[in-house]
Amino acid sequence: MSQGRWPPLREELRGVEPYGAPQLSREQAPVQLNVNENPYGPSPACAADIARAVGEAAASLNRYPDRELVALREALAAYLNRSGGSGITSDMVWAANGSNEVMLQLLQAFGGPGRVALSFAPTYSMYPEYARDTVTGWIVGHREQDFSLDLDHARALVAERRPSVVLLPSPNNPTGTALPHEAVGALCEAVEDGLVVIDEAYGEFRRAGTPSALELLPSYRNLVVTRTMSKAFALAGARLGYLAADPAICDAVRVVRLPYHVSAVTQATALAALDHADELLARVDDLRAERDRTVEWLRAQGLSVADSDANFVLFGSFADRHAVWGALLDRGVLIRETGPSGWLRVSVGTPSEMRSFRTALTEVLGTVSTKEGP
Ligand code: PMP
Repeated sequence: MSQGRWPPLREELRGVEPYGAPQLSREQAPVQLNVNENPYGPSPACAADIARAVGEAAASLNRYPDRELVALREALAAYLNRSGGSGITSDMVWAANGSNEVMLQLLQAFGGPGRVALSFAPTYSMYPEYARDTVTGWIVGHREQDFSLDLDHARALVAERRPSVVLLPSPNNPTGTALPHEAVGALCEAVEDGLVVIDEAYGEFRRAGTPSALELLPSYRNLVVTRTMSKAFALAGARLGYLAADPAICDAVRVVRLPYHVSAVTQATALAALDHADELLARVDDLRAERDRTVEWLRAQGLSVADSDANFVLFGSFADRHAVWGALLDRGVLIRETGPSGWLRVSVGTPSEMRSFRTALTEVLGTVSTKEGP
């Protein structure tokens, strides 16, 4: 037996912890506002339709599911055409197990050894993992003080490093900042021979007047817009994400996907939930209003708060954010210690959960001297 290190892992993966926020039980943390979930489950009518659809799928689980996701891609295209897009057809749509898998597949197809992917920090913390897992180089530029993009900096970095893929969330996680059309267009033009992936996981939560990058699909063939059913559709447990792009991009991704990667159960679940889009999106409106109230309230406490187009709010800044996070958890409220140093992120929950958050934070701000000086 060789004396090599066990297990025989790729060198760069040694000692790396799997990604993930702490998952605590409801007993440990009754108010869970840490992973940007939709606090409203599917309605009883939607859950009953999902159960019926899954029941029908169960009868033929001896067969592999539709590998090309034909019905699902058609339904997703129809939904996107009512959610900021127009003229989107099913051959412009692709789906996988969460938008995480969609973006991993994009890097499998368009990244790889000798190629680089680029984002601008603070940004979604899974992106460097997709790069690492596909042996794609990883570069990060920076964002401005208000978390917007400096287009001169972005263009310069693109010109210097020639990324194959640019990954940008809009609205951004963890800051909530959406990108204007001008920024998306400038990047698509700058990244001539690469893809610009605008990750709209939180797209449905954008404020009135904030555009979706879907509107730009007809103008840029290297633009990819990803979405998910995890947030607006309250379906994080089902794992269904998707993208809209030029059909040639979808075809390229089909080369790297595993056969039958989206189970018959998932396809049936997603299709049933899409039939309930109207009622699910009505809840999104409630969450957007609660988000705006949360921003206002945090500002009234004298805190710095990033403008948010998402279902979460980044606020700060604290000399010891870990102490604030821990003191909130002691009061049963779990939020997320993420983002630039000193800041914390709270997901928008139900009015009653947000009341608990406000009560707990008021106590914490009153007892711990944590706020940074000017
Ligand atoms: N993009 C962003 C910006 C996210 O915050 C998340 C989830 N937290 C995802 C993508 C992935 O979501 P999912 O895989 O559930 O679609």
